Amino acid sequence: MKPHQLLIYNTLSRQKERFRPLTEGRVGMYVCGPTVYGDPHLGHARPAITFDLLFRYLQHLGYKVRYVRNITDVGHLEHDADEGDDKIQKKAKLEALEPMEVAQYYTNRYHEAMAALGCLPPSIEPHATGHIIEQEELVKQILRNGFAYESNGSVYFDVEAYNQKHRYGILSGRNLEDIKDKSRALAGTDEKHNQADFALWKRAQPQHIMRWPSPWSDGFPGWHCECTAMGRKYLGDHFDIHGGGMDLVFPHHECEIAQAVASQGEPMVKYWMHNNMITIEGQKMGKSLGNFITLFEFFTGQHAKLTAAYSPMTIRFFILQAHYRSTVDFSNEALAASQKGLERLLDGLKTLERLAPKAEGLTEAYAEDVEKKCYEAMDDDLNSPIVISHLFDACRQINQAADGKVAFTAAGRERLLQVMRTFAFDILGLKDEAADGNAAREQAFSGAVDLLLDIRAKAKAAKDWATSDQIRDRLAALGFEVKDTKDGATWKL
Ligand SMILES: [Zn+2]
Repeated sequence: MKPHQLLIYNTLSRQKERFRPLTEGRVGMYVCGPTVYGDPHLGHARPAITFDLLFRYLQHLGYKVRYVRNITDVGHLEHDADEGDDKIQKKAKLEALEPMEVAQYYTNRYHEAMAALGCLPPSIEPHATGHIIEQEELVKQILRNGFAYESNGSVYFDVEAYNQKHRYGILSGRNLEDIKDKSRALAGTDEKHNQADFALWKRAQPQHIMRWPSPWSDGFPGWHCECTAMGRKYLGDHFDIHGGGMDLVFPHHECEIAQAVASQGEPMVKYWMHNNMITIEGQKMGKSLGNFITLFEFFTGQHAKLTAAYSPMTIRFFILQAHYRSTVDFSNEALAASQKGLERLLDGLKTLERLAPKAEGLTEAYAEDVEKKCYEAMDDDLNSPIVISHLFDACRQINQAADGKVAFTAAGRERLLQVMRTFAFDILGLKDEAADGNAAREQAFSGAVDLLLDIRAKAKAAKDWATSDQIRDRLAALGFEVKDTKDGATWKL
């Protein structure tokens, strides 16, 4: 275990707190996963990448992490409300499919996109439909404790009763009176005592396919139940971190806290973490605005708003260039800049690999200073943009060294390579897509170019200018830029 002072921002206390796990050396972390009824988009990429960064960093620090991310395949109704169609069932009707076929298809698509973005799979990925019994048990506990009521076969959480003993609104900072005013009265909601109450169990209408037996009716669980029930099942009554997008703070996470306290008498989660949202050219992303771009459309460039295709790593790098609690605005210009930035970082690493060390120059002390600064940034609430800026500073030194203006000792070069690879690949989770799966080919290719430059150096030493010029010119025609420095030639493609 590395001695670190990791600070993370807790939405509950609205401040950065020193991270101290409930159990020494172990971390339990739950992140709200996708509702699988459509292709994953940028709104899915950001929380996945944010919590992948946290997952990777905690493991790097030596923690044993259990990362649970759910798949919502039932109960998430349109407009996040208690009425309306189930999102998955609606899609199934449109496409004339079995609901589970829809859920499986979009779960596969989600996995495919997340793998391309370099997100490690979670330790456990529970499905809401696989945990109906646990959700019914949760509803029973809340009913027993007097914080819910049955109404016409459905069960609702009694927000008013809860708020008399606890505080509904503790996470979002809202108070119940405001929530009551803002809750719209929808047709058919007269089952509820109060507009702010939310469904724990819904009786299924006759046309509803996704239904399970329960003591109250044949029906299905309310959307908020699954995360409380599955978080408890896999991480225990108390666990460290619960994450998700800021749009989930209210009502989803507020309801989760209320369900946890109403069922077990005390909260379940120590640190609540939320990533900020993504806008597209300053606008909120939405199907009606025509700026709703799926991840696969980004990867292929097949969308009217895109002027080019952007690789998964460009998207990942772009997201990491902003702190997770800041908003991110996508535009073609910003993505093109990120693509260049990522290339600059990967080129810097490749140049460092090829750099000839000197007796005098930057030593391990330089690399250790870069490492210290990168750790400080990560420990400060996962400040990935600052980590990237320190890596860029190192790239500037590397490029100066390639131009012969500074130098690295052999030990200094090795240590910097190790530091940069650790942060760029292991922690930020970047990868060289061009070399992906082609590492051996890449190495052989580099070796061949180095060999040509060796032959050229020998030709020059023998004053065989014709051969030396021919090699340089032919390489230039193939796209290689050969630079002669006083310590020999360097190249890049
Ligand atoms: Zn959730």
